[in-house]
Amino acid sequence: MNKNVNTNRSFSITRMYCDLFGHHYEVSKKVTQHVNEYTCKCCKKQLTTNSNGNLTILTPKYREINNLLEEMYSKRLLRLKEKTFSTQIC
Ligand SMILES: [Zn+2]
Repeated sequence: MNKNVNTNRSFSITRMYCDLFGHHYEVSKKVTQHVNEYTCKCCKKQLTTNSNGNLTILTPKYREINNLLEEMYSKRLLRLKEKTFSTQIC
């Protein structure tokens, strides 16, 4: 049934470990205040926070969205900093 069962053996062992004990996700990238990217330390599976605030598999499409989000977020932070700076002067 499963043709891939004997290929890439070490990968299937780490996957089995994750299946048994759960993934060891750690934040691999902070996108915004609410959106992070997570990578499993064992099998390198990647997750991200989606627009509903739930965790979902990090697909190339989500990675693209996160890059845009990160760009927008850093620009907004910069603007906020400039704003507070100017109000402090006044
Ligand atoms: Zn894992």
